[in-house]
Amino acid sequence: MPEVLKAPLVVEFPFTRSLGPVQSAFLTGLRERVVLGVATADGRTLVPPVEYDPVTAEDLRDLVEVAPTGTVTTWAWNHEPRRGQPLDTPFAWVLVRLDGADTALLHALDVPGPDAVRTGTRVRIRWAEERTGAITDIACFEPYDGEPAELTGSDGTFEEKVTGIVAHARLDYTYSPGRAQSAYIAALSGRRTVGERCPSCRKVYVPPRGACPTCGVATAEQVEVGPAGTVTTFCIVNIKAKNLDIEVPYVYAHIALDGAGLALHGRIGGIPYDQVRMGLRVEPVWTDGGRYPDHYRPTGEPDADYETYKELL
Ligand SMILES: [Zn+2]
Repeated sequence: MPEVLKAPLVVEFPFTRSLGPVQSAFLTGLRERVVLGVATADGRTLVPPVEYDPVTAEDLRDLVEVAPTGTVTTWAWNHEPRRGQPLDTPFAWVLVRLDGADTALLHALDVPGPDAVRTGTRVRIRWAEERTGAITDIACFEPYDGEPAELTGSDGTFEEKVTGIVAHARLDYTYSPGRAQSAYIAALSGRRTVGERCPSCRKVYVPPRGACPTCGVATAEQVEVGPAGTVTTFCIVNIKAKNLDIEVPYVYAHIALDGAGLALHGRIGGIPYDQVRMGLRVEPVWTDGGRYPDHYRPTGEPDADYETYKELL
């Protein structure tokens, strides 16, 4: 029984989105310390504003300023803030109905403990010192016992409107690859590629998943494949990926390692991108400390006959 591995895994990406006229005004307003809602035909003011009436689906465009003060309508205590949350000390998540609004806005309330918040607590916005036109321009809410604050008189027209935002999505979790993939990864640490053969259809899966998806039976027989293989199909990448230090254009290919029953993918190097072809014979290139091949390069052998890999496309 091989050691079962586990490791922290982070999936993160910047999500870039453009803003329509309403969200653009709302976020630009926050940068200028103005809170805008949107008016519905029946006279309600929605904050945060939306572009369509949630009841009638009518377009909404009439911006209305509301006060930076309001009332907590409900709350929940967050005793252990996580990365990226508005405060790094325990705080209350609150829905706040700002003075002048008919709906409530979700944000954080900075209070010392759950005894310091209740439904009905009066609060005001604590503005971030540096504001860029994002919901984080509201640093958080804080208790406030005064009258509704004065409005600035803004009609929602600003210079240098914010037209887009980048929302950073991030998911942290612990990944345990299980028996089959642990064995695959352990073999890779010795620069060997090991798959598993299905006892029923005899196909060799690389990387192995521990079961044959076609036959529905467990796989256990380990089979070393490669190291060389055949390009079965490929694409030419012309768009440079962020944080990836590879010059474009380059080729990304499906490669059937010798003895494998399906192709895995990898980058092709050591040959001009426009000379890569189906049937090209390649071998892995490892870099010092690499946990998997950095790329594959031509072996110099004659191209593989189409008949030998046509089932692996
Ligand atoms: Zn099978």
